[in-house]
Amino acid sequence: MSTEEILEEIAAEVSTCTKCDLCKGATKGVPGEGNPHAKIMFIGEGPGFHEDKQGRPFVGPAGQFLVELLASINLKRSDVFITNVVKHRPPGNRDPLPAEINACNDYLDRQIAAINPQVIVTLGRFSMAKFFGGDKISAIHGRARRVDGRICIAMYHPAAGLHQQSLKDTIRADFKKIPTILAEAERQATEEPKKTEAPTLKEEPPEQLALF
Ligand code: URA
Repeated sequence: MSTEEILEEIAAEVSTCTKCDLCKGATKGVPGEGNPHAKIMFIGEGPGFHEDKQGRPFVGPAGQFLVELLASINLKRSDVFITNVVKHRPPGNRDPLPAEINACNDYLDRQIAAINPQVIVTLGRFSMAKFFGGDKISAIHGRARRVDGRICIAMYHPAAGLHQQSLKDTIRADFKKIPTILAEAERQATEEPKKTEAPTLKEEPPEQLALF
């Protein structure tokens, strides 16, 4: 199956998903959207009011800020893939529960595997927890780390910037780092085949996380 077909299949499954109770109060499933061959994938928390109505991620006020942030690094929505850890809206925008995140995890894992992005940007604490464990966002925001062979960057959720001007500035500054991190990820990706061809080169221990 092509990447497009896999993403369509996941979207179809999300639209009829009953793996947890979130579907009961939701209008539409929000599987995610964007470039199936994106180099960068953004993972938020879960659909809000506007996303639930439209079935599309980040189309409300936080989404408008995300579009502005993307533009600041010369990217459009259609260049990247945008999704969430849960694909149906939690009632009243409450935090998704661990059981709901678990129920949805397979969709996210399959999206990541299909798109195979070089860089994953987590937006907010729920997607951050998937890749960064118990780290605190205040300590690691804007920093890149290799997780399972992929570069991940933790960012504050754009909605946080809408409520606090200082965080808005922080998020803008963190976004500006993405092009350099992507370029470094691409450089490392092209070097990796050489590494396997040259067995004398020492591999990094998998548990050692490279920060840059
Ligand atoms: N917040 C999110 O985390 N995701 C969306 O899709 C919209 C707002």
